[in-house]
Amino acid sequence: MPELPEVETIRRQLAPLVEGRTLAELHVSDPRWCMPLDPGALVDALVGRRVVQLDRRGKYLLWRAQDDVTLIMHLRMTGTLLYDAALEAPYRRVLMTLDDGHALSFCDPRRFGTGELAVGEAALEAFLSARLGVEPLGPDFTTERLRLLARGRRAPVKAFLLDQRRVAGVGNIYADEALFRARIHPLTPVGRLRRAQLAALHDAVRDVLEAGIDAGGSTIDDFRHADGVSGAFQDEFLVHRRRGEGCPLCGEEVVKLVAAGRGTYVCQTCQRPPRGARIRSRRAAM
Ligand SMILES: [Zn+2]
Repeated sequence: MPELPEVETIRRQLAPLVEGRTLAELHVSDPRWCMPLDPGALVDALVGRRVVQLDRRGKYLLWRAQDDVTLIMHLRMTGTLLYDAALEAPYRRVLMTLDDGHALSFCDPRRFGTGELAVGEAALEAFLSARLGVEPLGPDFTTERLRLLARGRRAPVKAFLLDQRRVAGVGNIYADEALFRARIHPLTPVGRLRRAQLAALHDAVRDVLEAGIDAGGSTIDDFRHADGVSGAFQDEFLVHRRRGEGCPLCGEEVVKLVAAGRGTYVCQTCQRPPRGARIRSRRAAM
């Protein structure tokens, strides 16, 4: 599933191509994309308006158009936005044509991606604040903020990181990579982390997200850039999807566990399990 670095990669590629352009046509071929809104309502709100800014919050892509009308896109599991895709792009659910004749296709084999509308800045803020916590690459994400968010919570740190209402944009890949770099076991209760561990985690979250963006995101499953090319961060994974391989720090075997219901990769020498943790390893390949 595209996480923050993958969405940011798409945003950076598309922003210079779409900002300042007017949306000439919008064709929604799968109405489930914008349910419960009628596709006609989206067309009425967006067609003829200029794209002022292509923005991002967490894993949401925000098409900020004139008059504070915003199309809020989430790519979910398999969604991707392709610039000038082939005429018969497979799994296309939405086609947006710009006034310069170029077009964007939202292709999404599993059809979990969504398009929503916010009219007015207050509506957009309400939508985002109900769903998203602090932006990890923004100025508000500090060690102190992380400490306040974590304080008193018994949730395992991996589950905490995946909860978009705490820190926005981190998913399974970047959580594993950040925890390994911070040498924190994913099952450690987040409220039990010491200040030095929180500082290390804060830095590691930023570092892996920035490294992911620098590499153009990760390509596993279906993620593609707007030009159809793939990202390369998967080649830099230190533990994620590296079960059975040697830990890059100590050489012990990377193992796969279940944390927050997700396949989770860890070196249990570098990331010491918390006392009393009941660790369930996962045998099935994932
Ligand atoms: Zn190790």
